[in-house]
Amino acid sequence: MLTISRVDTFVLTVPLGADRFYSSQAEFPERTSLLVRLTTTEGEVGWGEGGQYGPAEPVRSCIEDVLAPQLLAMRDASPGVVWDLLYARTRDFGQRGPYIEALSAIDIALWDLLGTRLGTPISELIGGRHRESVHAYGTGGYYTSVDFDPARDLQQLGDSVAGYAEQGLTMLKMKIGLLPIAQDAKRVATVRERLGDEFVLAADANHAYNARTAIAMGRVLDEHGFVFFEEPVPPEDREGYARVRDRLDLAIAGGEAEYTRFGFRDLIGAGCVDIIQPDICVTGGISEVLRIIALASAHNLRIIPHVWGSGIAVAAALQVCSTLPQVPSTHRPVPLENEPVIEFDRTRNPLRDDLLTVPLTLEGGRVAVPDGPGLGVEVDLDVVERYTVG
Ligand SMILES: [Mg+2]
Repeated sequence: MLTISRVDTFVLTVPLGADRFYSSQAEFPERTSLLVRLTTTEGEVGWGEGGQYGPAEPVRSCIEDVLAPQLLAMRDASPGVVWDLLYARTRDFGQRGPYIEALSAIDIALWDLLGTRLGTPISELIGGRHRESVHAYGTGGYYTSVDFDPARDLQQLGDSVAGYAEQGLTMLKMKIGLLPIAQDAKRVATVRERLGDEFVLAADANHAYNARTAIAMGRVLDEHGFVFFEEPVPPEDREGYARVRDRLDLAIAGGEAEYTRFGFRDLIGAGCVDIIQPDICVTGGISEVLRIIALASAHNLRIIPHVWGSGIAVAAALQVCSTLPQVPSTHRPVPLENEPVIEFDRTRNPLRDDLLTVPLTLEGGRVAVPDGPGLGVEVDLDVVERYTVG
């Protein structure tokens, strides 16, 4: 039985300086992660991460001021037990947002601890691995400026994506939605031209459109053979999602801003998506993503977890992705089609690349699933100290 004797939280921040970039929604002048470290009465340590998009401080407060005192009072801190109890006690005010992100961090750390206690990777505890490494797709092709200067920007974009291909990737997701459609169409054409027809491409609008404009942009993506269109419209616009999905050939993806099985029940139930993208650090941790995977399976939908955090977030996603079945299952699985794939952010993030004593790296377009107990990774405490604020 796990009993927690200590809860520590860390807000890590790295300014990006000249490497700052933009999506359709925001400027990214820095990268931030909220980490939690749990220690058991036996002295074992587990790590988790919570949240991805917003400020880390509210998530920290949910842990320190509300959830940690309850966790410390539980004699049995098994992940499933803790999830049910903490969710029930915060349901009336915390069904989404920082509370669920805080619960995600605690849940991941508890699974890390359970694996450490049993000497087993999380992937084995949740059913076993279909694969020892996971095919990766790169996330890049961000905006480096909010103005569009074709001479400057298209060359720079082409060079950056060519660089990702040189790392061994065969699939890339680029950003769209910040600029008018005619200008983004030039960026899309540049990436296709530079990487060639065989390269698998996807695009992420971060919900920059309404249904009408998303359909117009989606036709451009269809023309260039893109395989999925992520967050075409705002997550609340279920009707818009369904309309876009009905009118386009390429798959519609979404779900990084959904919380728990209840959010995915509604997204899937309204016919919004072909691919669901739960973020394990956002949607409720490993315990909850297992329920979401079951839900998706009942609807024959693919799952490509959203991954954008530190090395802890990548490790958690690798453990889960190694256990995902093919969707749909066939005798001749096709990489990047029905074989699972992991998102591998390629923008500069020292919290991803430097946090772990053994970094998670690309090898022939794949990332190996760590074999050690729990998450299978060791956190470099000097790096935690270097980037911890406050
Ligand atoms: Mg996205």
